Amino acid sequence: MRREAVVQALKTVCEGLARSPNESNVEVSGLLLGKEFAGGLLITSTVTGKQTSSEMRSKLDEDFMATIAQAMVAGQMVERIVGMFHSHPDIGIFLSQQDVRTFANFCRLYPGFVMMVIDPLRPRGERYKFFRYDAYTRSAHLLTVRELE
Ligand SMILES: [Zn+2]
Repeated sequence: MRREAVVQALKTVCEGLARSPNESNVEVSGLLLGKEFAGGLLITSTVTGKQTSSEMRSKLDEDFMATIAQAMVAGQMVERIVGMFHSHPDIGIFLSQQDVRTFANFCRLYPGFVMMVIDPLRPRGERYKFFRYDAYTRSAHLLTVRELE
């Protein structure tokens, strides 16, 4: 069972992608890209695109997801989709019931899928957490993160 995610380029996620346009409190979501290694997951970059967003949720556009999948199949991307992130602007870091349902669906496609929740407006302290999903207990658990410089 994977218990660690190693993260590169996370500052880009924290300070760029997860921030809503116009400093609004709209949720932003995107995909985490990377690769597996023994006992862990190396997350190397993130990608985001067209999505439907509100203050309560965000959903990536299916065309965007298809474009990414096609690029992978065509060999234009060497990384794999290993997870997704979404922001909880100013509401704290947790998984909502809808988040857990989404998480469970992705884990059916790829059991190692991870979910990152980030609060880009949090002034100090931990601004993000990673979660893994346990299909046997049908519950999400915190994932240890090691950040590479
Ligand atoms: Zn959420």
